[in-house]
Amino acid sequence: GVPPASAAPTAVPAATSGYYFLDAPPAAAPSDAPLQALADQARRAAPDSHLDGIDLRGPRAADAPLPGQALQGPGAAPQYYFVHAVQLPNGFVTPAKPHPHAAPGAAAGHAAQQDRHPGFDIQAVRRDFPILSERINGKPLVWLDNAATTHKPRQVIERISHFYAHENSNIHRAAHTLAARATDAYEHAREVVRRFIHAPDAREVIFVRGTTEAINLVAKAWGGANVGEGDEIIISHLEHHANIVPWQQLAAAKGARLRVIPVDDQGQIRLDEYQKLINDRTKIVAIGHVSNVLGTVVPVKQVVEIAKRRGITTLIDGAQSIAHTPVDVQDLGADFFVFSGHKIFAPTGIGVLWGRREVLEAMPPWQGGGNMIADVTFEQTVYQPLPNTFEAGTGNIADAVGLGAALEYVERIGIAQISRYEHALVDYGMAQLASIAGLRLIGTVPGKASVLAFTLDGYSTDEVGQALNAEGIAVRTGHHCAQPILRRFGVETAVRPSLAFYNTFDEVDQLVREVRKLAARRR
Ligand code: PLP
Repeated sequence: GVPPASAAPTAVPAATSGYYFLDAPPAAAPSDAPLQALADQARRAAPDSHLDGIDLRGPRAADAPLPGQALQGPGAAPQYYFVHAVQLPNGFVTPAKPHPHAAPGAAAGHAAQQDRHPGFDIQAVRRDFPILSERINGKPLVWLDNAATTHKPRQVIERISHFYAHENSNIHRAAHTLAARATDAYEHAREVVRRFIHAPDAREVIFVRGTTEAINLVAKAWGGANVGEGDEIIISHLEHHANIVPWQQLAAAKGARLRVIPVDDQGQIRLDEYQKLINDRTKIVAIGHVSNVLGTVVPVKQVVEIAKRRGITTLIDGAQSIAHTPVDVQDLGADFFVFSGHKIFAPTGIGVLWGRREVLEAMPPWQGGGNMIADVTFEQTVYQPLPNTFEAGTGNIADAVGLGAALEYVERIGIAQISRYEHALVDYGMAQLASIAGLRLIGTVPGKASVLAFTLDGYSTDEVGQALNAEGIAVRTGHHCAQPILRRFGVETAVRPSLAFYNTFDEVDQLVREVRKLAARRR
């Protein structure tokens, strides 16, 4: 059902043809003027202002051959995805600057043709993801639930399958060949993670189950040793429950206090209020990089800098940033950066805790058992050095290998390219949704990443989700594991389409078309 890339430029008619707007003219209804103004403001915003703290250099040597590449399956040749390797139709140009929609005078609701070009071969990318060819209720699947989880390219699926067919063994033990293969594959994945987040040392990369486990590990191990009665822990109003509850539990156990950075009405954290909260009792600042409800890109580098000046430990929850923005942990400067594999095209059940070496080395282990020990007697145990100190027991070996393959896949496309394309897609989606009468956008900070949350007058969020599902469009509805921030905006639930780099402008158009139909039928 998806037209080939080469057909797109000729099939995209002039803005007035109605091709993208089958139901209604794109002009905002008078009652939507404030929302439209917000969307316009978002599009006009300085292109790079939201990229504060984000490394735009992109992955180093993204198109260089990668270790383990031979295992990636057919079609993985690095050049395959790059613009220079594909035949571009006449007049189809790569965007010259990060935010084409920021160009003054760009017709609201109509991406200029070149804005629709992601800078990589999107149809080739889509063919890599088998599930994107599924039909749901007789319609082609439109997957707009990427903030919940992302799909897996066949390079990842095949890599895991290869592991079980040819390499499966427990790791770091035994003298046999398969143990060596499995250990090599696992440690290679660790090195890929290091490179992807620009960590200085692969020993600082700890494999865990996901973001939730990583934050719990830090709260229990680091927090257990460093937080005491009367101490304070700072988080923000934007946080996912995974970055609230472990700190709440720590605070309750230790007699410490949780302090919360408020957000403004667009959904950005208040740096001025943060500066007032921070004090001599503050022990740790744990902050989300990108909100999973509002899509706000938080100026985490500034947040970390302010804490660091006072010697306060910092953690960044990168669950929603890792797939959408380049991450350089050295540039960000935090002590911990955590993310989940499944949010970045890797399997569930695998994720990463990165920590600065001195901080990790000063931390007691969390779980005890095999793999993390050097020597055990009944009197005492000597622990393994990093990273094994924090990897007790048999880990999720195959999925760690799958995570490595997923990151190599993203590296070949280029996270900076992905980020640019997605920001154009998000800005476009925001402007389109803002033009629908009765639709309220939740979270309107310029330069949002991935997420377009809204409510629709006259409908419960579940009704909207079900109506979209009938058309093959998958969006999340509900509280999104972040109740405090939704309540801050006066709602209990929201509809949350969320985008990834395999989504297209046509898919955003389909979403908007269906929501517009619902709005027109409003009770
Ligand atoms: N933090 C944020 C911002 C998230 O969006 C999520 C998942 O949605 C999590 C943490 C928890 O991730 P996981 O369930 O993979 O541990």
